[in-house]
Amino acid sequence: PSTWLVYCRPGFEKAVLAELQYHAGVHGVLCVEESGDGWASLTRKNEEPINTLHRLAAFDLLIFARQSLVAVPELTLSREDRLSPIVDQLLEAGWSFDAIWHETPDTNDGKALSRLLKALSRPLESTLKKRGALRRKAGGRRLHVFWKSGTCVQLGMSFPGNRSELPGGIRRLRSPSRAPSRSTLKLEEAWHEFIPKQEWEQRLSPHMTAADLGAAPGGWTWQLVQKGMYVYAIDNGPINADLMASGQVDHLKEDGFTWEPPQRLDWLVCDIVDKPMRVLAMVERWLVRRWCKEAVFNLKLPMKKRWEEVTKCLSHLESSLHQAGVKSRIRCRHLYHDREEVTVHVRLES
Ligand code: SAM
Repeated sequence: PSTWLVYCRPGFEKAVLAELQYHAGVHGVLCVEESGDGWASLTRKNEEPINTLHRLAAFDLLIFARQSLVAVPELTLSREDRLSPIVDQLLEAGWSFDAIWHETPDTNDGKALSRLLKALSRPLESTLKKRGALRRKAGGRRLHVFWKSGTCVQLGMSFPGNRSELPGGIRRLRSPSRAPSRSTLKLEEAWHEFIPKQEWEQRLSPHMTAADLGAAPGGWTWQLVQKGMYVYAIDNGPINADLMASGQVDHLKEDGFTWEPPQRLDWLVCDIVDKPMRVLAMVERWLVRRWCKEAVFNLKLPMKKRWEEVTKCLSHLESSLHQAGVKSRIRCRHLYHDREEVTVHVRLES
């Protein structure tokens, strides 16, 4: 297998390809690229295995990829017998795994395949069990059957510790009915993504203080208040009345780019729609002065050169913090609930 296959939000194929090619370049690997709605892949020019690159460009480092797989060449199937070519290719590759996931691109055409996949999953499973490919204790390796259409499939493998544990790499969250806006899910997803569940109690706890810049109507503030925090909500726009009634919100009609907190806070969150570099400069000021311990903020991306813009911002952030002697851990992801934006998380190390 010599192909690195990733899933992404449809429309972000160019960004994810630029990202994969960047990692290939860092490790001196020459690759041919391919993509379709909601996926992209790199294949090594000399047909050598892609495994090393796949492992070194670890999933946690990736921004635009929702899932990261080692794949074999795509198969074209006939409607009469879709399964035999899949089984043959797997046996030939000598793969073994302890789970099989059927997935599709995150498109309407992809969703329309769900009944077909349901019908095929049992027969494929029992055949692969009989042939010894699907077995217990196969080291946590998982087979991903990626249906690009009803007659085109690409088989990929994922490995524990270097993948998304979510089907399609998508974190589905229920929209809380009492939250003032749907953007509330962006902050919730960021926490799931960047904070291990066992640390939530300690890092998202009552009596902590937070600032929410660009807070109106209050979806992010609502999340912070749900955790019992006290929030400075900075925005000229109105904040949801129920949220104000909680008594945990101080609404200040000030400019988020210049407002300074009255004392050190635990959290800074920012969802202001503005130029990425402008948001970044403001967040850097906060972090360098240690006005907060952790930050989650969005960078709104231009239509073109998204990867270039994100990396420019992240290297700026990294070098500013480094120069100021501020040790931190920076993560960035294009979350499922993000559209034309990515979410950055920074945690200062004390
Ligand atoms: N996160 C919010 C939520 O979940 O409800 C939505 C935020 S909305 C995308 C962006 C907000 O930023 C708008 O309410 C806008 O008024 C505010 N905004 C824009 N520029 C600002 C600035 N310089 N200072 C403070 N707020 C600003």
